Amino acid sequence: MGQDKSEQLGAIGEEVRNLEKSPLYKYRENHHYQAVIGEGDPYAEIMFIGEAPGKQEAKSGRPFVGAAGRVLDELLSHIDLQRDDVYITNVVKDRPPENRDPHVDEIEIYTPFLIRQIEIIEPKVIATLGRFAMDFILDQFEMPQKGEKISKLHGQELQAQTPFGKVAVVPLYHPAVALYNRDQRATLEKDFEVLKGLV
Ligand code: URA
Repeated sequence: MGQDKSEQLGAIGEEVRNLEKSPLYKYRENHHYQAVIGEGDPYAEIMFIGEAPGKQEAKSGRPFVGAAGRVLDELLSHIDLQRDDVYITNVVKDRPPENRDPHVDEIEIYTPFLIRQIEIIEPKVIATLGRFAMDFILDQFEMPQKGEKISKLHGQELQAQTPFGKVAVVPLYHPAVALYNRDQRATLEKDFEVLKGLV
């Protein structure tokens, strides 16, 4: 009998937790941080992909639980959704030091895990949060918009051809941009409304 989605996702968690060859593994261990695999409904229609865990996330092992996470919760509730209705993960599963941008080798080492997560969940919609996640998806699914800026693509419904069929891709700004900027907050709210029309 095949494993169910939770078991398959659990296996990924186990592998990432033991990923000693990751350039971020020692940093995780030295700071008593946890890898952040992802959480939510394994059968969700919408999958959110962020950049990398911050400090609060690495301390708790859960994605988007710090300040940006509170904004994400509010944006979800703006479209009548809760965390439990969606699946939330990141491109990079360990916190980069001082929240710096992830390096290419760090993105590469976690790539197979994110691809497996997407193929297990088989979402109808992938919503990327910030430019790293957007670039990852445009690149991975060889989408014609590859190389375009997030300022141009945010809030648009794009189409990706995946091994399990067509998926809508909606690039969104990272919720952290809304922390200190009301205009960006309004843009994010409007862009989230696009998701509502897709499920
Ligand atoms: N920012 C991210 O991109 N991901 C998190 O999990 C938290 C903050």
